[in-house]
Amino acid sequence: MTNKYIVANWKMSPTSIAEAEDLLAYIDEHLQNETENKEHSLIICPPFVFLDDVSKILSTSRLSGQAELGAQDIALADFGAWTGEISGPMLKRLNVKYVIVGHSERRWKIGESDEVVNKKLKTILANELTPIVCVGERERNNNFQEFLKNQIKATFAGLSADDISKCLIAYEPVWAISSNPGAYPDTPESALESIFVIQEVLTVNCKLETRNLPPFLYGGSVNATNAKDFLSLNEIAGVLVGGASVRKEEFIQILKNS
Ligand code: PEP
Repeated sequence: MTNKYIVANWKMSPTSIAEAEDLLAYIDEHLQNETENKEHSLIICPPFVFLDDVSKILSTSRLSGQAELGAQDIALADFGAWTGEISGPMLKRLNVKYVIVGHSERRWKIGESDEVVNKKLKTILANELTPIVCVGERERNNNFQEFLKNQIKATFAGLSADDISKCLIAYEPVWAISSNPGAYPDTPESALESIFVIQEVLTVNCKLETRNLPPFLYGGSVNATNAKDFLSLNEIAGVLVGGASVRKEEFIQILKNS
């Protein structure tokens, strides 16, 4: 298996820095001992308040060179009066390399529109950070592919082919996100069909050449059992893991199986 992205979206967990340290120490120990010869690009996305500590741990532990730091959000502007926001330059000073944008919890719980996602995406790129762009339909109904196409067009509006090729795109159907009632994972085959729909919009509407398409990840109820099924497909470059990324034994199993 080629090098795969494993993105850990910790969301609003764990609840203390002590637990975060414990989780990282566990990953460090087991990564060295049990996942030898495995090639991953591991990206840890903690809550903002732990970024500084996690950044120090990643640069001083054996995880240095094995895991990169990601943020879960970014301010629309780099400077100015934006109460409660964290800017791109602030993230860079903490050694953040990736930023999640367009996550369904921000789109649907907080009300971020496609327009806001698009502006944040441009801010991430302007700060020379790598966006992890989440897209996905809310419901798997007869129109879901149409919904997906429109979401992709709006999310990437005004971006050059070159900029789009710098992103990671995570296909995350909202109904598959484990925290949603009745959630269940998509199948690798059907996730791939959706990824092909996204690729079609990017090549036809956004004028990307096929060879410049960015890596595509799958997210939604990924666990220790199903991760390898998604990761075994050449077209799926990685997984975005939410709930299971803070369950330490399970997360190590995902890394072992990748
Ligand atoms: C996510 O939050 O992006 C996610 C995929 O969550 P979960 O793995 O818990 O479904």
